[in-house]
Amino acid sequence: GDLGHEQHGLIISHFGRQVDVESLDGDEPGSLHRCHMRTNLGQLVTGDRVIWRPASEGGVVVAQLERHSELMRPNPQGELRPVAANIDFIVVTVAVEPTPYANLIDRYLVAAELSGIEPVILLNKTDLLTDANRDEILGMLDQYQRIGYRVLHASTASTHGLDALKQLLNDRISVFVGQSGVGKSSLINALLPGVDLRVGELSAQTRKGRHTTTTARLFHFPDGGDLIDSPGIREFGLWHLEPERLIEGFREFRPYLGHCRFRDCRHEQEPGCAIKAAIEQNEISASRVRSYQHIRQSLLTEKSPH
Ligand code: GDP
Ligand code: ZN
Repeated sequence: GDLGHEQHGLIISHFGRQVDVESLDGDEPGSLHRCHMRTNLGQLVTGDRVIWRPASEGGVVVAQLERHSELMRPNPQGELRPVAANIDFIVVTVAVEPTPYANLIDRYLVAAELSGIEPVILLNKTDLLTDANRDEILGMLDQYQRIGYRVLHASTASTHGLDALKQLLNDRISVFVGQSGVGKSSLINALLPGVDLRVGELSAQTRKGRHTTTTARLFHFPDGGDLIDSPGIREFGLWHLEPERLIEGFREFRPYLGHCRFRDCRHEQEPGCAIKAAIEQNEISASRVRSYQHIRQSLLTEKSPH
């Protein structure tokens, strides 16, 4: 057919075999094109970089560029599938209320670590900090800073911390995850003024009719950086995982791995356990080890899918 020349594009949204491609370096950078995909391509997802060629209407994606990361989620059949690509930050959002729990934060951190995506911890609703809750919450988050995680504070109510958050997210692709009620929608609305996320979804319908599945969509922050969001992405969590791999998700444990007396050490009561020695030396925190034991137990008792 009469296809235009090859150019780079960014997948903004995907619907089965069709995708919305944003032109990155063509005649109209920033323009959106509803494209078909060459049949030899795998499933493209939001955040993918592609080579595409414009056609008289829309265009054709001819190649997919390599992904540096994938965010996985189980499909209705329970199989893990990528739902977004090239994400740089998973913003693990917690709030002064509902009270954050270390075990929940640890589950998100493990899921992020095993996806190879950098987690950032964001404490929202700092306007609700009081003399009664401040020490406990900030002390709990301090232990994450000590093991090398970034911890940011924000309040969408007072706008405190939003500038620092915008600066961090600049030039990067981020997703916001976290428990319901922590303020993800409020934060996203503050960072994307004037974008009604529901309207974004409606504009993703094809001419043939409305899509019923809500697929992930990429948004540009006005001051730089991108957000990928969908209800499914906000529910990102620790899907099934081989219990043996869990420990890789605890970054500060890594230097001790392989140093226990027993190769199959569960880091419980075994003699010569390097992790236990590290706790006794105050090199790793007992709370993180408790999380590890707790998550491991839940993975072991999880019903195997077969
Ligand atoms: P989501 O479920 O994570 O998307 O959370 P929402 O954005 O819907 O917020 C849950 C509730 O927390 C709403 O009532 C918000 O008004 C409230 N909220 C969000 N951010 C703040 C904040 O910074 N301070 C206070 N005090 N309340 C907030
Ligand atoms: Zn051990």
